[in-house]
Amino acid sequence: MKNVTIIVPCYNEEEMLPLFLKKAEELFIDNDKYSFDFIYVDDGSKDKTLEILREASLKSERISYISLSKNCGQDPALSAGLKKATGDCAIMIDCDMQDPPELIFRLLEKYEEGYDVVNPQRSKRETDTYFKKTSSGIFYRFVNKMAKKEVVPPNVSMYRLLSRKALDYLNSLPESDRIIRSEVPFIGLKTCYIKFERQQREAGKTKYNFHRMFDLGERTLVDSTTGLLTMVLKIGLLFSFVGFLGMLGCIIAYIIINTNLDIGTGSTYFHLIFALIIFVGILIVGVLSIVVYIPCMYLKVIHINTQNRPTYLIGEQFDSVRSIAHGEKSDKK
Ligand code: UDP
Ligand code: MG
Repeated sequence: MKNVTIIVPCYNEEEMLPLFLKKAEELFIDNDKYSFDFIYVDDGSKDKTLEILREASLKSERISYISLSKNCGQDPALSAGLKKATGDCAIMIDCDMQDPPELIFRLLEKYEEGYDVVNPQRSKRETDTYFKKTSSGIFYRFVNKMAKKEVVPPNVSMYRLLSRKALDYLNSLPESDRIIRSEVPFIGLKTCYIKFERQQREAGKTKYNFHRMFDLGERTLVDSTTGLLTMVLKIGLLFSFVGFLGMLGCIIAYIIINTNLDIGTGSTYFHLIFALIIFVGILIVGVLSIVVYIPCMYLKVIHINTQNRPTYLIGEQFDSVRSIAHGEKSDKK
């Protein structure tokens, strides 16, 4: 019998978690082909998430949990779970049931066919807002264009199956700032996609506001490609070229047409040209700031990785598998 570890990150999910636990029990507890164990990662929740997990772990010997010392984000939460996964394969799944748990059996079929990475890919994104749909579509096209290859597959979330080999490779990556959605394509191995329709969140709300989405986008971009750095040069060349053409045009206009603008004090032209100079100046400062920010994005990541601090610390954990082995089921650390 093969062991499958299911890793579930939870942040303030007191409304969804009981529904997920119930569904998981219905679907996965009695199975003669696979033995499922669950690692729930409480990502520093402020609601009753941890209490629910403590209770659930006492009721089922298949449930372990890790509670992070504070809210660290979905990637660190998943990394904590991946490090503890003991199964022949592992599956990461959100607890809001937007990614249908029933699909896990189809992921396992593909695993049995020999795939190391099985990616459920959303066929449509009807459940997302117009803004999220459009921005993520543009973003993934942009990242892959910058990298000149598909470094991050579109419409694939964290919901994935990883074979033991893929899992070990992923756990062995040295960076402390983890971006799992670009690390999984990086490790390669035999990969396939299966289409599915993402469901509506049944309760609670999304934890990704604009600020978090922007931050995730920026880190994914930096993690996936250095193409942006070359873009700085391209932007510089473009602006120099446009500036040069404009300058040339002015000189030619002055010499050939011999424009005789009356720019004396009080004339309309004077105010117009003055305003134009100010706005062009502001535009240039804006573009320059954006261009300077691009290497800063890479510096930020270098800073985080050279600091080499752990991206999560564990506040409390309960390892059901180890406890069963040592006969200490109720001992919580
Ligand atoms: N999550 C987490 N830490 C966070 C944010 C989210 O562990 O800081 C979990 C969350 O509880 C859920 C999953 O990650 O199980 C996906 O989050 P969400 O549903 O908010 O994302 P969306 O589906 O809206 O992209
Ligand atoms: Mg969700």
